[in-house]
Amino acid sequence: MTSSHQNAHLSRRVSVLGAGIAGTWQAFLFTKAGFAVTLYERGDAAMTHATSYWAGGMLAPFCESESAEPVISRLGLRSLDIWREVMPQTPFNGSLVVAHARDRADFERFFKLTTGHQRFDAEAIAAQEPDLAGRFGEALFFPQEGHVDPRQVLPALHDMLRAFGAEIHFGETVTSADLDGLVIDCRGLAGRDTSPTLRGVKGEIAVIETDEIKLMRPVRLIHPRWSLYIVPRADNRFLIGATSIETESDGVSVRSALELLTAAYAVHPAFGEARIVEMGTALRPAFPDNLPRVTVNNSNNSISINGLYRHGFLLAPAIAEVTLAHVLGTGTDPEVVRCA
Ligand SMILES: Cc1cc2nc3c(=O)[nH]c(=O)nc-3n(C[C@H](O)[C@H](O)[C@H](O)COP(=O)(O)OP(=O)(O)OC[C@H]3O[C@@H](n4cnc5c(N)ncnc54)[C@H](O)[C@@H]3O)c2cc1C
Repeated sequence: MTSSHQNAHLSRRVSVLGAGIAGTWQAFLFTKAGFAVTLYERGDAAMTHATSYWAGGMLAPFCESESAEPVISRLGLRSLDIWREVMPQTPFNGSLVVAHARDRADFERFFKLTTGHQRFDAEAIAAQEPDLAGRFGEALFFPQEGHVDPRQVLPALHDMLRAFGAEIHFGETVTSADLDGLVIDCRGLAGRDTSPTLRGVKGEIAVIETDEIKLMRPVRLIHPRWSLYIVPRADNRFLIGATSIETESDGVSVRSALELLTAAYAVHPAFGEARIVEMGTALRPAFPDNLPRVTVNNSNNSISINGLYRHGFLLAPAIAEVTLAHVLGTGTDPEVVRCA
């Protein structure tokens, strides 16, 4: 592509639909590249209705490789670099995986299926997480992993976007047909009017509060049914997540509530005295193969970003970079980019 052709791109308007984590990163990288970007969000700035609001916010490409395809780790590793560059305050102090004696075989399986870890004995666990001293004989430590609080990071990215000159319109439901220029559709599950194979995979979480215990980093508990984890948040709060159920039904079931809270109690009995702040649920937008897609539709000048499933925070920066490179003509990624 010639430089004059590229300059033509750079003067173009880009409208991004949906201010969840996918749309926010698209808007951010396109704005930084010099495009005139407007981000439209049908909800308000609190974003409570978006799937992104309910996420654990773990940036864990190594742990996720236990069950996800290699493309998730590849894009996830690239995303870690972008998170570090754009938000240097993001905690990258690793994550810890623990198991009770009865789940020892699953712990060894997790060890074999993942990379980027160190084996910790009880002493090493206590050195990293003093409040877990004496709780577990062994753990896996993934030193390169990070985590964000979606409820803080989304508004922070929206503020940065405005500072770089993008416009954000909350409370506006728009469609591609309403807009000129390139449209990047990041409407999550609402995008199934144009992507009918999308489905919602329910995830349930609990937020609890206690000053009896401190954790520095996410702790995953090997569990026979789900990958359950506790993520420390500000103000002595902890997010316990998450179930993964093939249903789009609403509400947290008694069984899920019991499993989430029992997992926390099993990590440390001090969680038994914690106050339950909230329980909630959201639907992860997923394609049948659970892989993300950048779908380019040249006939109406739109690109749809969807299917981020359980990896939206992990993947969104790298997916935005892939989309930008495709639009600029500087490269493409056949593993995720499709033509409609
Ligand atoms: C319980 C749970 C835990 C999770 N934990 C993690 C984790 O630890 N790490 C991780 O990487 N991922 C995690 N995920 C996955 C992650 O949350 C999702 O992949 C991600 O939120 C999907 O983001 P999105 O931007 O595609 O969709 P959304 O966040 O749903 O955003 C779509 C937005 O589009 C808006 N919209 C819809 N239609 C329109 C329209 N016509 N006009 C304007 N706006 C519109 C919606 O209001 C919405 O705000 C978790 C998910 C769940 C449910």
